[in-house]
Amino acid sequence: MTPTENFPWRATSRRRLLHGALLATGGVVLAAAALAAGGEAAAAATKMSQKKAGYRDTPLGKSRCDNCGLWRPPAACKTVESPIAAAGWCNLYNSK
Ligand code: SF4
Repeated sequence: MTPTENFPWRATSRRRLLHGALLATGGVVLAAAALAAGGEAAAAATKMSQKKAGYRDTPLGKSRCDNCGLWRPPAACKTVESPIAAAGWCNLYNSK
């Protein structure tokens, strides 16, 4: 006689518990992926256009994107839409 024959509710309970845990894990993974995708999309949607920022792909004297506090290597900016050149510059330049 197996333990589950004596206590059939145990097998069912364990199975349900494992099934529930797998469903919950899958749900968490899907929710995290959706949040990450939504976060990136939201960040891109809130960035200023290059035109509005007065962006150009050439520096202004010694002021250039790769020495700006908003620069995000290799080719992005925290505030202005990508792509951003390391040697670029815009009106929002913020010295490091
Ligand atoms: S100069 Fe403008 S585009 Fe370049 S990193 Fe700074 S804020 Fe972004």
